[in-house]
Amino acid sequence: MKVIGVDIGGTNTELGIVDSRDGIVKLSKFKTKGNESFKAYIDILTENIRLLSLEHNIQYIGVGAPNYNSKTETFCPVNFPWDDLEPFNLKQHIEVVLNIPTLMVNDANASALAENRYGAGKKYTDFALITVGTGLGGGIIINNQLFEGAFGYSGEFGHTKIEGLDRQCNCGGTGCLETIVSANGIKKSYAVNMKEIKSSEPTHIPSIKMIFDKAKAGDERCKAILNFTFQKLGQKMADFIHVLNPQAIIFCGNISKSLDAYMDVIKTSCEEQLLSDFRGQVYYGVSELLEDKMNVLGPASLAFSKSESLVN
Ligand SMILES: [Zn+2]
Repeated sequence: MKVIGVDIGGTNTELGIVDSRDGIVKLSKFKTKGNESFKAYIDILTENIRLLSLEHNIQYIGVGAPNYNSKTETFCPVNFPWDDLEPFNLKQHIEVVLNIPTLMVNDANASALAENRYGAGKKYTDFALITVGTGLGGGIIINNQLFEGAFGYSGEFGHTKIEGLDRQCNCGGTGCLETIVSANGIKKSYAVNMKEIKSSEPTHIPSIKMIFDKAKAGDERCKAILNFTFQKLGQKMADFIHVLNPQAIIFCGNISKSLDAYMDVIKTSCEEQLLSDFRGQVYYGVSELLEDKMNVLGPASLAFSKSESLVN
């Protein structure tokens, strides 16, 4: 069986034909923001899906979309720069235009589906996937099923709070976990550190890669900032583990590629907070899937799950 997986990302929209046996058959992408309006974007997206659907017998289309609300079945990518943005029912639109059954999922939750079917999550029936990149998001798999919540927004780990932290978050709140554990958060920690020690160095903030590289080379400031970051993450993970009792916590996203060196920090500060019954029971690891594959495999997995549930 073949499906099309679509990921609507801030930079690129990625599309792929995915076979239930052979995996990804074909990948393509185009620039999301290269379109002058939301309407123009929807037209180009639909045309790209249509062209792919001509190449094979496609049974489903799965779409991972930002801010997808499963109750209203609409998505509205609020961070995208178009004046004509409004909640849009893409499922209905594709089904009318292309006559192929379409399934939608929130983009962060789609990654958890990909991990469950293709990645490290294959070994686990109950786990949380934490995406650490520009921000911090995630998805929850319970008994091999995505736990979406009432509107599809579950797994917003990034906006859980850290006590005593007064950092302003993009969401309008203060003290959110992602104001520390994310690319932006790490840069902020670097800036705060420079201010605190009244450094005479220019206030240039290095790239995230450079901060990790410098820490690896022994730079004490970068080491301290990253240790602080991942201790906070570990402590917060303990809250999630107490609530969810998962078998594993799996990390993905841009920053996760550098995370192996800090897995012990995360694990130690997490396990310290856990009730004794939970200690030593959880696997902590980095996703084995490459991001560009995960983006398309997640929404495709949704389509495969749907067809399997119809068979069973
Ligand atoms: Zn927030």
